[in-house]
Amino acid sequence: MAEVLFLGTGNAFSPPGRMHALALIDGAVLIDSPPTVLPQLRRAGVSPSDIQHLLITHWHADHTFGFPFLLLDREWLAPDRDARKTLSVHTRPGGRERLSKLCEVGFPGSLEDALRERTVWNEDESGILKGTGWSYDRFPVSHTPETDPHGYKLIHESGLTILHCGDSGPCQEIEERARESDVVILEMGVPDFVDSPHHHNPSQVISFSARHPHAMVLVTHNFSRSLDSDSGFEVPELPDEIHQLNDGDSLEIKVDGDLRLIKYR
Ligand SMILES: [Zn+2]
Ligand SMILES: [Zn+2]
Repeated sequence: MAEVLFLGTGNAFSPPGRMHALALIDGAVLIDSPPTVLPQLRRAGVSPSDIQHLLITHWHADHTFGFPFLLLDREWLAPDRDARKTLSVHTRPGGRERLSKLCEVGFPGSLEDALRERTVWNEDESGILKGTGWSYDRFPVSHTPETDPHGYKLIHESGLTILHCGDSGPCQEIEERARESDVVILEMGVPDFVDSPHHHNPSQVISFSARHPHAMVLVTHNFSRSLDSDSGFEVPELPDEIHQLNDGDSLEIKVDGDLRLIKYR
């Protein structure tokens, strides 16, 4: 069995009731590290030291600025300093330099050893996430070009495939891979009155789902408030087969491949 836990489901503005988008797979694989990654992990009772792999989608701050905090906790709050664990960071080329600079700006002098001795840097476009049942295939998406935007196709050893689209507007790269994916995690970063090549709006999410009826479509990086908030953009009406995630929701993948979405509230 496998699990994807959604620790945050909001866009860069962190709408009322939503933290920045963040997904945790099997308690060991993080997709991105938003500024509030530590409180997001703590709320779920997950120790930052338990993360084995970090996959970065692109260089926007809502996806990366938590990296120094993640390393800080692992380096300085580990119960046994001799047992500090190694983190594998999977990024596009140049990621080591960018994330190291972020650590130097945020916590000068505190994270050099962690960056050098307890971080494995991997720029391969595909590979196995060692110690887990997952492998990945990175692919380009349509988003602010300066952020080198990518998504991840995640393949479970059972054969189940999840497409994590990062931040992206509609594009051919997602369309092609969606055809062979069981689950698609799609962002919906803007409301319908915004037509941007860099984000999906609700109408585009609806047409995407109609083109890929076989796939379970999960919506994150949402521009709207959560269901129990009363300020901010209203939650858009989407067809029942499209699941707008809220913080704390999770996807359970059973041994037989059955999928079950568990609502946190
Ligand atoms: Zn974002
Ligand atoms: Zn972005």
